[in-house]
Amino acid sequence: MEASIDIDEYRKIVGDEVIRSIFSKASLLAHKHILHINSTYQGGGVAEILNSIIPLMNDVGIFTGWRILFGSPDFFRITKKFHNGLQGAPLHITEIKKRTYTQTNEAFAKFTHINHDLIFVHDPQPLPLIKYYRKRQPWIWQCHIDISNPNQELWDFLKTFILRYDLVIVSHEKYRKPNLPIPQRVISPSIDPLTTKNIEISTETIKRLLQKFKIPTDKPIIAQISRFDKWKDPEGVIDVYETVSKKVDCRLVLLGNLATDDPEGLEVYKRLERIVQKTNFIHLILEDNQALVNALQRIASVVIQKSIKEGFGLTVTEALWKSKPVVASNVGGIPLQVIDGETGFLLEPGDISGFADRIITLLKNPTLASQLGNAGKLHIKNNFLITRHILDYLNLQIELLN
Ligand code: UDP
Repeated sequence: MEASIDIDEYRKIVGDEVIRSIFSKASLLAHKHILHINSTYQGGGVAEILNSIIPLMNDVGIFTGWRILFGSPDFFRITKKFHNGLQGAPLHITEIKKRTYTQTNEAFAKFTHINHDLIFVHDPQPLPLIKYYRKRQPWIWQCHIDISNPNQELWDFLKTFILRYDLVIVSHEKYRKPNLPIPQRVISPSIDPLTTKNIEISTETIKRLLQKFKIPTDKPIIAQISRFDKWKDPEGVIDVYETVSKKVDCRLVLLGNLATDDPEGLEVYKRLERIVQKTNFIHLILEDNQALVNALQRIASVVIQKSIKEGFGLTVTEALWKSKPVVASNVGGIPLQVIDGETGFLLEPGDISGFADRIITLLKNPTLASQLGNAGKLHIKNNFLITRHILDYLNLQIELLN
């Protein structure tokens, strides 16, 4: 993802004071070893964030490592079911599923030696690891999913691991678990303005990329950029587009990738392929291309995010950072970013005609669109850039280690 590895480069975006504060806090943690564990290098928001945070933490002098839990396709099929179950989907938990889940973690622990001062475990896949180590340091479970209404049987099972941790981090106040007898913190996610995906690019570069992927720029573009996942409701986006295109001539681009820890993605993509074959002006693109995400977020007249559930929604952050008005579902972390009528519009996920109305309004009113987009960029700058995230982690690390 080609993140910057030099914290000084962020000075021009966030100013001297933020960078000075990062250095001063980091100096209190010199010689500490921190470890992050998750289950994919690529695909999805967590990998995105770690890709930036890990090199920058090292740049400011904290030895920060990153390890990936290995798992079989079977393991990831099960953990995807758990992911869905944590978001409230029905789930049949069998002994075999539990065994595959715990045994994969146990096997990984056998050959992955941990000697660090502090451990961050991200999301449910590596959650059981803690059980298979002699614990000598604080362990933090950071859950990036909306766990406000999980499948109860699954939650009871996962709690047997969660209770072993020293701290739980969630990404929204709404996700705190009132009955969990463990300290809980909220740390919002962030984006890195200097990655290939977010850095400013010229109009020529944008045009060249769009041409390469055969996206014409003859009509306004509406875009949703998301992993192919039913929770992102790409079929609902097509329904919205069908309504919009009756009133305003435009194109829809659905750009997505697959995450290595999500086996359902390809099925979702294939279904969309069949639907899109019967339509005009809908472009379905399966690519893992950071520069293309950047170009599309910049060329789009409106970015849509029609998720049914959304932990935070970095795609929303990225679009707002590019001064795009975002029309999105009022779920999960999205309302922290899209303030209705100020930085975009919020709707209930099922409200197809509401989505269509707002998009039509924006397509017909470019002044309003750029007003909302500019307010969006400022909101992201003040709250959701990587430098703020680094400060949150530094504060927590100081608290737990000094
Ligand atoms: N993403 C990407 N290419 C794609 C689709 C998504 O690089 O084709 C990135 C997207 O830009 C964002 C991340 O994957 O940085 C998705 O994070 P988000 O929080 O929106 O959703 P998640 O996938 O974690 O549910």
